Amino acid sequence: MELTGMYEQLGISEKVLKFARETEAALKERFEEIDGVAEYNQLKVIKAMQEARVSDIHFAGTTGYGYNDLGRDTLEEVYARAFHGEDALVRPQLISGTHALTVALSGNLRPGDEILSPVGKPYDTLEEVIGIRDSVGSLKEFGITYSQVDLLPDGSFDFEGIRKAINERTKLVEIQRSKGYATRPTLSVARIGELISFIKSIKPDVICMVDNCYGEFVETLEPTDVGADMIVGSLIKNPGGGLAPIGGYIVGRKDCIERAAYRLTAPGLGKEVGASLGVSQSLYQGLFLAPTVVAGALKGAVFAANLYEKLGFGVVPNGSESRHDIIQAITFGTPEGVIRFCEGIQAAAPVDSFVTPEPWAMPGYDSDVIMAAGAFIQGASIELSADAPIKPPYAVYFQGGLTWYHAKLGILMSLQKLCDAGIINL
Ligand SMILES: *Cc1c(COP(=O)(O)O)cnc(C)c1O
Repeated sequence: MELTGMYEQLGISEKVLKFARETEAALKERFEEIDGVAEYNQLKVIKAMQEARVSDIHFAGTTGYGYNDLGRDTLEEVYARAFHGEDALVRPQLISGTHALTVALSGNLRPGDEILSPVGKPYDTLEEVIGIRDSVGSLKEFGITYSQVDLLPDGSFDFEGIRKAINERTKLVEIQRSKGYATRPTLSVARIGELISFIKSIKPDVICMVDNCYGEFVETLEPTDVGADMIVGSLIKNPGGGLAPIGGYIVGRKDCIERAAYRLTAPGLGKEVGASLGVSQSLYQGLFLAPTVVAGALKGAVFAANLYEKLGFGVVPNGSESRHDIIQAITFGTPEGVIRFCEGIQAAAPVDSFVTPEPWAMPGYDSDVIMAAGAFIQGASIELSADAPIKPPYAVYFQGGLTWYHAKLGILMSLQKLCDAGIINL
């Protein structure tokens, strides 16, 4: 078959292909389900764009202060409509997910307030933002305190613990949807809704903010559909569709967005300023493509989970469970295993396929880390990428893929490298 020949030219052996074909054949129904979600979300985005009357004029950029930036204002309307919030802040000046979260938090908190995380430790970078790890400029330095309730050992919410932790100073609850690089399960939107209802039944005026990174468009609902006051994320992950070159978003209640905007720019200025330069068109087009891009990434994650599960490796989520984010963890148990896997992901990339990733002492980590990424946008993890700390249990986390076929090639290449190194015998 012509296709087999093409794979062979790229370095994939017939053995690997055959094994992969058998795995893929069993995933028809899963893939159809993923396509169904993408179809719904595609319509949701188109509907939002039509209702906001998106037009050619909105793709023009502004400079300087950015007064009357129609493209920026309309894009924010599109995000608000697509994610069912009252308002939105979607800006290239939100330079990452961590920054968007920082702006949402610091805009809405005042000295004496307390943040509660009812789902355990938040994402690594937030530790310094909040002041869980001391850092210059943290919220802690401004007299904002933090409390945390862990999930119970079986992954369920500790409702009693949460009830006890909510006090008169609790102003904002931070709920992280994706497990990120932790071992807890990712929360479904339905579970987030259940948690928010419980919290609001105790303290109705508390702000429920969801860190939505890696979760956008994985389900047909978003946390704003189940009571979240704010959702926050990065445009170089899911909602940027691989085209956004930079940016973050906050969608939610109008007063929350307004306070965040006063923090991002300046009190009194808020959303009225902030030039979009030339990036608006990429942000529109990326959002338009995001539902199918996320579907491709999800297929890759499900494919990898099934492939490596069949080979006897630990996978989280497992091959058959439902998905609530695009991250896949695979435990190889040896440094060699995670290194070969990352080499395969790198070798399959459209960009920098010729470089060999190596473990290095990355600042902020307590062990060497290996990273594979051959991305068009630096650090974009909606593009096929993988990373692993070189320490037990020697697990690799991988995510993304702008198309299913690229994700598939990356996974096949990883398997090929593991076979070539004699770690796997097919
Ligand atoms: C990626 C991520 C962040 C931070 O985003 P950056 O853009 O890397 O700063 C925060 N929370 C979660 C759950 C994430 O996955």
